[in-house]
Amino acid sequence: MYEKSKELYVRACKALPAGATSNFRIWDEPCTIYIKEAHDGHLVDVDGNEYIDYRLGFGPVILGHGWKSVSERIKKISEEGIITALPNELEIRIAERIKAFTHIDLVRFANSGAEATMHALRVARAYSGKEKAVKFEGQYHGMYDYMLFSTYPPVKSLGIRNNPIKVPAGSGIPGCIHDLVITQPWNDFEILEKTLKRDRDIAAIITEPVMGNCGALLPKEGYLKFLREICDEYGIVLIFDEVKTGFRIAMGGAEEVYGVKPDMKTFAKALGNGYPIAAFGGIEEIMGNIGPEKISHGGTFAGNLIGLTAADATLDELEKGSTWEKLFSTGKSLMKGIREILEDKKISFTMQGFPTMFGFFFTELEHVWELRDTAQCDYPRYEKMQLSLLENGVMPDPDPREPWFLCAAHTEADVKKTLEAMKKAL
Ligand code: PMP
Repeated sequence: MYEKSKELYVRACKALPAGATSNFRIWDEPCTIYIKEAHDGHLVDVDGNEYIDYRLGFGPVILGHGWKSVSERIKKISEEGIITALPNELEIRIAERIKAFTHIDLVRFANSGAEATMHALRVARAYSGKEKAVKFEGQYHGMYDYMLFSTYPPVKSLGIRNNPIKVPAGSGIPGCIHDLVITQPWNDFEILEKTLKRDRDIAAIITEPVMGNCGALLPKEGYLKFLREICDEYGIVLIFDEVKTGFRIAMGGAEEVYGVKPDMKTFAKALGNGYPIAAFGGIEEIMGNIGPEKISHGGTFAGNLIGLTAADATLDELEKGSTWEKLFSTGKSLMKGIREILEDKKISFTMQGFPTMFGFFFTELEHVWELRDTAQCDYPRYEKMQLSLLENGVMPDPDPREPWFLCAAHTEADVKKTLEAMKKAL
């Protein structure tokens, strides 16, 4: 079933460390799968196996692979020149659109989620005159030194809850950076409050408002409001990392859903339906400090016309109420169907998230609230289920911490096929 993928993997290992260009794309079982084509909500691998794609590139593909109104505009712009080292009108237009949808005052562009969160953190440090940042266990903000702590560690390596050990993701992070990052369990009011009372050099708290890197866990009632209030009390910049949730859980992101306004927000993924574009922004009092001889920000590819055009075309589609209705109705049927099968088979589970981005864990727990709870979840069972789904043409991620993503191109027929495969798998 995977002969060509296996052959490619052997070849790849001679040119790419571990056989791929991202550590997150390498699979032990059944093997690392090489993709030949992606259309709508579907993938075809090099061996000709077809899958309904619920990973969607780790979330960016909100409309569908190769969505026509986006790709046609990209084709046109790529013939006109896409980078000039001078500003263009489109960057103003997309900034205005992001401002209007997400209620921020000022926006700057970047190319990846990592870049967006990295810039946001530096701006927060410069604004506050302080150096440390709080990040939460099980959250991921990108592949760079400051944020590569306690992302996907074994839970037992994290130490006791009220005095967490920071676990770097691999080596190479300078010792002095360790001192500038504080990791905390998410959804815990008391521990964070104690930490902030103790340490007065905290510039920023960065959080995914919904834990898109831990099975789409939701904030506890009042938790985001608590973060807002405690940041105000201690003069800390609150950053919502909306790289996964932005333009996916709602047009206005987490603020629209939860009514809590952070100081800064970061976006990437769904903003461009898969084309590389990212943005960070926030209140004028903070973002207004970026500029020549003030806070640095730039980038050769920042605001390039491929990314901006993709964002413009994607926002055009997302702005239509009908696209959201479809996304939510397909996602709801899938969540409902999976829930019914699990209940019918008397399998203990928790399911959480939004119809466009949801997850489930096999567990006896009533709720999974944060990374540490996942130690009580049955990963091998989930992996086994995923292998069976793959055999039957359905591709979620093998790790339950990576949510199931929906795109507008998914259909009720895809849902039906998925649920049939799910019944078989379970
Ligand atoms: N923030 C969040 C919440 C993410 O999920 C990710 C990527 N999964 C990033 C930042 C980093 O984005 P990128 O991979 O585009 O650098």
